[in-house]
Formats: sequence, structure tokens, C-alpha cells
Amino acid sequence: MPKTILLNPGPVNIRESVRNALLKEDICHREEEFTLLLRSIRAKLLEVYNLDPKKYKVIILAGSGTAAIEASICSLVTQNKKFLVITNGVYGERMVEIARVYSIPTIKLSYEYGKRINIIEVEDILKKEALSMVAVVHHETTTGILNPLEEIGTLLKEYPGKFFMVDGISSFGGEVLDFEGWGIGVLVGTANKCLQSVPGCSFVVARQDILEQARREINPRSVYLNLLNYYHYQEEGTFPFTPPIQIMYALNQALDELLKEGIERRIERYRRLASMVRERAKGINLKTFLDGSLSSNILTSFHLPEGISYAYLHDVLKEKGFVIYAGQSGLSNKIFRIANMGEISESDIERLFEAIGEII
Ligand SMILES: *Cc1c(COP(=O)(O)O)cnc(C)c1O
Repeated sequence: MPKTILLNPGPVNIRESVRNALLKEDICHREEEFTLLLRSIRAKLLEVYNLDPKKYKVIILAGSGTAAIEASICSLVTQNKKFLVITNGVYGERMVEIARVYSIPTIKLSYEYGKRINIIEVEDILKKEALSMVAVVHHETTTGILNPLEEIGTLLKEYPGKFFMVDGISSFGGEVLDFEGWGIGVLVGTANKCLQSVPGCSFVVARQDILEQARREINPRSVYLNLLNYYHYQEEGTFPFTPPIQIMYALNQALDELLKEGIERRIERYRRLASMVRERAKGINLKTFLDGSLSSNILTSFHLPEGISYAYLHDVLKEKGFVIYAGQSGLSNKIFRIANMGEISESDIERLFEAIGEII
């Protein structure tokens, strides 16, 4: 049977070599073999963007991306000052929701889904408020908009003591990220999106001084999602709880392949696929939801064609072996999404648009 092509923004189609890595030997996480695996993954995640291991630390978590977001917020954001979350989609809103559950005083600067963040409005808040941390989603998967990390980060450098937290879950491994230049303090990522591994573990890349400060100043608010506890154990080469060992084998393999491909070439491959998606769509008169200049390399959202429901489009494409993705929240009956992360080829995209063309 031909494989189903996943055009949803993760989990993605993985390579056979990554799948085969799941079948490695059984090991105990209190043994040296596990320490080597953990050390290898933590080092490779820094290597992807060439980060200085003295300055940045990686913490691996069992759980999907949201687990790592929640662990970062509840472990690193103090309740004594305000937390600014800039949102223009569902995932920004999720950070606000997490902060609310932990009773963190939060300012939400929100924009319509897919609308550009206004940096002047961000600056107004920075001038007025005593903030601890500013958070934003890099690639807002709700619409495919790429938010301006450089602008926000550069501005934040003028306000020392306020850290920059980024949800990079759907961009790490697929977009340019300049940690130093953009002043990124904490960035959350996951295994099953642009890193092209299986779901089940996520990670945080954080500046060591932010981790140390949080350890001194913030009392734990969660047992299982205590990021600093994971940090402490992982520096010793182990995990506080049972780690997802097989999933980590797969991630280690996927990272080897990313480093071999090189981040620039991975980004370029995604960019080519995304522009092909947009060109082919234009050829059959599909309208993109975003103004083109705001789009990521990774996902495109389209208005549903006149008179065709998402359910119909989805079901016919599924029969032909393609899984597309619905809009979320208020966009659910307006748009559909095509992500081009994972092992997808140009011929898959050709066949996809032939199929969509036939339907409409
Ligand atoms: C996928 C995604 C998440 C996390 O979703 P999970 O279901 O927890 O994996 C968070 N933020 C963004 C931007 C995402 O694309």
C-alpha cells in the first residue's frame, strides 16, 4: 500500500531509518547507555543552530510540545511581575491559558489570527509595565504566519531583565533562528515536526543564567512539569522519571540526519516545497489566507474553494492518500491548511494538486 502523505503540521512522515531506530535494544535509564543517548541528543539539539553549550542548556521532556510549554511557564515565570504574551493564533492563546491556570498575572496583547504584530504596541507595554518575561509563538501554526522575533528581541534588549520566551515548536529545524542576535532566552521545540521524528518527546533550549535565576527565585508549582528538576537530573546524565527511551533513539537518529543534511539545506528544502504549494494552488485559483510576505516556509493556509466544505475536501483527498488539515477555532469553516514538513517530495505535492484540481 502506498504511504499516506501527511500534510498536517505534525506528526509528520518520517524516514524508514528513523522508524527503524525505534527497534534498538532495551536499556535501563539508570545505566551508562542511557546517559550516552541523552548526552548525544542534548548536544545535537544545540548543534542544529550552532549554540554555545556553555551558555545554552537543553532539557528533554516526555510529552508533546504543550508539556514543554507548560513546564517552561510554570518553572521560569515568576508570579511577582507580569508576563506578556503576544498572540495572533491558537497557540499564543494556549500560553495565556497556561499562565492563567498557574495564577501568573498576564498581559495579553492579542491580534486577529494571521495579523501582523505591531511592535509599537509591544513597546508601549514594555515602557509601562514591570514585566518578567515576554512570550510569543514564532511560527503560528494556526495560519502559517511567521512572527517577527528579530524585531521583538531587538526591542527587548533595551529593557534588561525581561526574558524572551519563544514557542518554536513548529519552526525549530525548519526556519532560521538566531538565538544570540534575537536575544532568545527560552525556546520550546518538539520531536515530531520539523525535526522529522516521532511524537512523544519535546524539549526546551534555555540560557543557563535564566535557569539558574529561576532555581533561586521560583518555588516549584508542579512535580511532573518542574523543568528545573529535569535540568538538574539531565546535567547528571539521567532523568527524574522514566524517559521515553525508544522515542529518544528515534530523535537521536533524526538529529543525525538533520545535521548531515545541514540546517540551511533543510530550510531550503522546505522553502522550495512551500513555494511549490503556493504556485500550484495559484494555478487552480486557490486563495491564500495570509498576505504572502508573512508566511513561513512550512505551512500555507487557503480559503476553502466556493461551495466546497472542508469535510468533503478532506474525505476525498484522504481516499486518495493525502491528509490535509482543518482550520482551528473561528477559522474552522473558512480555511484549510497544507503543511510541508517531514519527508514529502515534490512529486507528492504535484499529485496532491492534481487531486485538488479534480475535486474543484
Ligand atoms: C504543534 C504545536 C504546539 C504543540 O502541540 P502539541 O499537540 O502539544 O504537540 C504548540 N505550539 C505550536 C506553534 C505548534 O505548532
